[in-house]
Amino acid sequence: MAEPQFPNIRMVMVNTTHPGNIGAAARAMKNMGLSELVLVDPKEFPAEKAVWRAAGATDVLENARVVSTLDEAISDCGLVIGTSARERRIPWPLLTPRECGDRCWFEAAKHPVAVVFGREDRGLTNEELHKCNYHVHIPSNPEYSALNISAALQVICYEIRMSALTAQEGKAPHFDDWDMPPADNGALEHYYAHLEDTLIKLEFLNPDNPRQTVTRLRRLFNRIRMDQMELNILRGMLTSVQNYIYHTDEKMKNLSKNVDN
Ligand code: SAH
Repeated sequence: MAEPQFPNIRMVMVNTTHPGNIGAAARAMKNMGLSELVLVDPKEFPAEKAVWRAAGATDVLENARVVSTLDEAISDCGLVIGTSARERRIPWPLLTPRECGDRCWFEAAKHPVAVVFGREDRGLTNEELHKCNYHVHIPSNPEYSALNISAALQVICYEIRMSALTAQEGKAPHFDDWDMPPADNGALEHYYAHLEDTLIKLEFLNPDNPRQTVTRLRRLFNRIRMDQMELNILRGMLTSVQNYIYHTDEKMKNLSKNVDN
């Protein structure tokens, strides 16, 4: 059987503190056949400690891409999954590690996919998790639920590999096929900015007190997995609304000018 390849599946580590963990993650990836590692603003990298812990996986380390923001790491991805050791106040659609492996493998045939890992001390921020389509939680001991980051990454990569091996036997689960590619993360971020701006102009949102509305809208749209065409339609609608507001404002200004004269 040919060795499965994973060029479209990337592991993203955000703000990692200990370079040893980056090395251990590179090793965990190579053991499972994965190679795409992206480091978002690591505290210390390149580093000798990372090389030691990578052992025979220094090629994965050398090819790791270092970027300064999470957006840069995931903007071209059609599927983004965030990992979390604990439950959050606003729950997101949740996958088991096995479901995560299946989805990653299935979708990577069509577009880039990212699994995102958080800081050793405090995980991913809510804002970072809200950029993801799904969350995955490794069902660990609830009294001590946080795995070392490289151990968590190992579990996820193992499940992705298992899914690939199962697919080779013709037994992989099949998800819906779609006629259009999904909107990628970068396009979604532009859409959310456009939406928020429009809702503020409509005075539906108070920018000083947006409450959870924006988060809930993100969750709604992330859950739907809009395709590129659907996203373009919605962006076109927002542009029309903004044009309408602009022209109405102009008319009102002219009217009041005439009254003043
Ligand atoms: N104290 C942090 C724990 C971070 S552990 C917190 O409360 O979030 C570092 C990273 O390892 C996490 O951000 C996540 O990416 C991964 N991780 C650890 N345990 C995990 C678990 N049980 N399920 C999923 N990811 C986990």
